[in-house]
Amino acid sequence: MVFQENAHNLADQLFGSRRIATARHNELLDNAGFDQDWWAVVQNPGKRAYERYLRLLPHLAATEIVSNPAELVALHEQTTIVDPHLGALLTVQVNLVLGTLLEQHSRTGEVAAALDDLLAGRAVGAYVLTEVGHGSDLNNLETVAEYDPADGGFVLHTPTDTAVKFMPTTAPAPVEGISRFGIVFARLVIDGVARGNYPFLVRLVDSDGTVRPGITIRPLPEKPGLAMDNSLTRFDHVRVSSECLLSHTGTRVDDNGVLIAPIPADNQAWRAISRVRLGRLCISAMATAVSRSALAIAAGHARQRDIAGMGGGRIPLAQVPAHTGPLLDAVADTYVAAAAVELALEAFTQAADEHADEQAPVLTDLVSLTKYLTTSTALRVCNEVRDRLGAQGVFAHNQIVTYRALRDAAATAEGDSYVIALQAAYRRLALPDEWTSESRDSLGSCDIDTPEAWLDWLSAREQYLQHRTLETFATTGGDRQERWDAVYDLALAAADAHITHRAARVMADRARLLPEGPRRLAENLLTLFAVRQCLTHGADLLPDGPFPKTPRSLRDMRIQLHSMLAPHLGELVDSLDLPPGLLPTTFGPDTYVTQYAQSLSEVGSGAPPRANGAPVRAASRGFRVFRRS
Ligand SMILES: Cc1cc2nc3c(=O)[nH]c(=O)nc-3n(C[C@H](O)[C@H](O)[C@H](O)COP(=O)(O)OP(=O)(O)OC[C@H]3O[C@@H](n4cnc5c(N)ncnc54)[C@H](O)[C@@H]3O)c2cc1C
Repeated sequence: MVFQENAHNLADQLFGSRRIATARHNELLDNAGFDQDWWAVVQNPGKRAYERYLRLLPHLAATEIVSNPAELVALHEQTTIVDPHLGALLTVQVNLVLGTLLEQHSRTGEVAAALDDLLAGRAVGAYVLTEVGHGSDLNNLETVAEYDPADGGFVLHTPTDTAVKFMPTTAPAPVEGISRFGIVFARLVIDGVARGNYPFLVRLVDSDGTVRPGITIRPLPEKPGLAMDNSLTRFDHVRVSSECLLSHTGTRVDDNGVLIAPIPADNQAWRAISRVRLGRLCISAMATAVSRSALAIAAGHARQRDIAGMGGGRIPLAQVPAHTGPLLDAVADTYVAAAAVELALEAFTQAADEHADEQAPVLTDLVSLTKYLTTSTALRVCNEVRDRLGAQGVFAHNQIVTYRALRDAAATAEGDSYVIALQAAYRRLALPDEWTSESRDSLGSCDIDTPEAWLDWLSAREQYLQHRTLETFATTGGDRQERWDAVYDLALAAADAHITHRAARVMADRARLLPEGPRRLAENLLTLFAVRQCLTHGADLLPDGPFPKTPRSLRDMRIQLHSMLAPHLGELVDSLDLPPGLLPTTFGPDTYVTQYAQSLSEVGSGAPPRANGAPVRAASRGFRVFRRS
């Protein structure tokens, strides 16, 4: 009972803003019949994701979800945990494609028809942005949309081989009877003059699978791990009507060839892809969702797997510090990553409430650094869990391999996490230097029960790294690129310290509101996180940075915190709000030992073999895991 209450309180702390939406999405996924036999091979997970998407679509209330960041984030998180292929598909269909169409200033004619088709499940979309030669440098897209004064429409063309669209999911949908349109980003040219990048609505594939004239599409070779229909696409003078120029500011070209209501020139390309900003938030949440789920699987495994103790007898891995220590480190990182998502989500909600400029650099940079933090965290967590699961970790049914593939996609899609974090770090060069030696000298003693002192240290570290960056930048010569090349690493470390510190503060603020038991757990996790930050990044503070004053070694504090937290590993991962009953791993109420023995006993039992030659499991046997009472 105390266990469940603690988990419940901690979940409130982590996901307070969206627990209702999370519960609703969990119920929806549960009712959609996503349960599956862990033994069964999924031959085509990409196709299954489309089928699942089309099954969910009528129940999603997608048009409302798209305009509500908390709902949108919760949808992406919960679907990713259950089926990463589906989560990846939703980032395109719901946020990017539906979101862009709904943002349109005018939703009539061809835009209305595409929207109807999408919502009715007659069509799917593609977000057609990246080119072979242009991924992170979106300002330089080469695809052209030339205004034709004869009919007021536009002619889309791929002028060079580097302009070929690379990665967008343009191929015919893998389910029959579904057409495909694209939101294609191209340089708008009027009277020979480039006027900025704009999205254009382009019908790509008919419902019988025929690719439209002037368009060449070739699915890219297989990407191991994550099934998505990423393709190459070329346009050869494809005509679209005047209605197909999309813009949330109502951009159009009038009868005299004059561009009306253009997207503001400052940050034009970024404003044109406005949904990507929210997409980065969703992807940050998805990366954290795979960290959460991976840890829950690891905790289930640690309860069931035992080893031979050196003094005799068997010991469950859940009681072996060498096993649980690294997992607890990963739990601490995941809590802070989840707090970073909360921070960014709050900023979005606030910007919307205050009618602030959502494309402004403040929010852009916050979400970019959040994506960098969460995708880096997910890499560490997935790697740790994969290895801690031993041979169990290599199987699809124990999820980690697919989770790691999702995390890899998350690190690159919708803006390479590293590049966008560098861009955010670059902008921070304009911020003031607030470091003084007083920041270091005033630090109090940092012990295992002083989370506030550790927060002060995180703050001092952030200030110091910013100071070193600015100091080095000020003494660097050369052009803009040369000066940046000289400090990129310092600037990134300072920006990372900044987002880490802010996320840790969010976690501390939320922890303070909890009852005694879960508050202590959250604070211990926070302290463990800070201790490890110092262990991992301490060298950044040499020669004169703010080292924490500690009464014992960092190593001893880490080990002590592990021993305090280890008995609560179950509560800590149970608080991560996973969809109950929808993760068919082998670590369920029937242990993996029972399940493997049972599956073997079915050989020759007369049960019909499956496509892969494995026997069918007894219909009544439940392989569900995470079903909470
Ligand atoms: C699974 C997946 C799905 C995708 N889906 C879509 C989609 O639906 N539609 C679409 O249009 N695109 C899609 N993409 C493409 C994605 O948006 C791009 O991959 C992404 O923007 C990064 O571009 P890039 O791959 O060209 O990387 P690059 O821009 O080539 O970056 C690669 C590396 O080069 C270095 N680098 C690049 N720029 C800089 C810089 N300014 N400073 C320092 N170093 C730099 C960094 O080390 C960086 O990590 C998808 C990608 C993936 C992986």
